[in-house]
Amino acid sequence: MRVFNFSAGPAVLPEDVLKQAASEMLEYGSSGMSVMEMSHRSKDFENILFTAEADLRELMNIPDNYKVLFLQGGGWTQFAMIPLNLMRNRVADYIITGQWSKKAAGEAKRYGTVNEIASSADKNFSYIPDLSNLNITPDADYVYICQNNTIYGTTIKNLPNTKGKLLVSDISSMFLSEPIDVNKYGLVYGGVQKNVGPAGVAIVIIREDLIRDDVLEFTPTMLRYKTHAEHKSLFNTPPCYGIYICGLVFKWLKKLGGVEAIHKLNVEKANVLYDYLDQSKLFKGTVEKKDRSLMNVPFVTGNKDLDAKFVTEAEAAGFKNIKGHRTVGGMRASLYNAMPIEGVKKLVEFMSDFERKN
Ligand SMILES: *Cc1c(COP(=O)(O)O)cnc(C)c1O
Repeated sequence: MRVFNFSAGPAVLPEDVLKQAASEMLEYGSSGMSVMEMSHRSKDFENILFTAEADLRELMNIPDNYKVLFLQGGGWTQFAMIPLNLMRNRVADYIITGQWSKKAAGEAKRYGTVNEIASSADKNFSYIPDLSNLNITPDADYVYICQNNTIYGTTIKNLPNTKGKLLVSDISSMFLSEPIDVNKYGLVYGGVQKNVGPAGVAIVIIREDLIRDDVLEFTPTMLRYKTHAEHKSLFNTPPCYGIYICGLVFKWLKKLGGVEAIHKLNVEKANVLYDYLDQSKLFKGTVEKKDRSLMNVPFVTGNKDLDAKFVTEAEAAGFKNIKGHRTVGGMRASLYNAMPIEGVKKLVEFMSDFERKN
């Protein structure tokens, strides 16, 4: 029996995609083998990879002067690749809105000066600071944000005014959940295991002029964007099966009507939970309303024992992975693209029932 999986990541995938993958497990097309078993240099796999890229370009409206790279190493490897490839002056500005931007900044500090030009650490990252008039460092190579904060449940809704500097954004936990204008970024990336596919793939969308040879000299071959751009993500063996699943998710999303259609559904879905939280006398959201994420919704009762009781009972009732991150406590429901609205409605029913009894 499949449960309602509210995991923050790896997370729920569309059932149709899993069924199709299952049906193609033993033989992909007429290849006589599984995608896992085929050469990454085969026509079949090239077709999977290039179709996935074309579909993603269409879904996100990616301009021609941006490259799409399918890489390995998840989000964390990008925390290093970004400074290695982009820190020409060895200076960058980071906006700290949670653990993931903090960790990215920590990694960048190995390579240069990192200025933390804004932070919401003072209130446990429960809000997004005003980013309209920041103290941008004159020789900063880029300004870095984590656009959706998976752990704290906030989203940067108004991009920072970078005063002409390059904007770099981690969109791991909001990938393809709402339209974004790729033109506004120099580089935008995400690990796919939150909203797009299985762990092991990271997608990097990077403006062509930023793919250069003059990266920090000690940058390993595998960590140079140029290596992967020149070889169309086929420099070495890519995460083939993961890319194949991402491709199926892109097809699923296109069939649903694309990113605008899923965004509408995501708003509707998140509102089911937020509306309930706003009138509940037991549960409350932990985030300032204006900054609420459509994807990750942390909430608490204010009583640790009651939180623990709720998590236990929810798990038993088939609402899985709803325990909050240890730095926030309480609960967190992740409502990624593949979470059906029925899952959220049933969760809210379960919560009201729990509220009545406690
Ligand atoms: C999960 C997550 C990461 C880390 O991804 P890994 O693939 O585990 O390295 C980075 N950024 C955000 C926003 C995340 O949600």
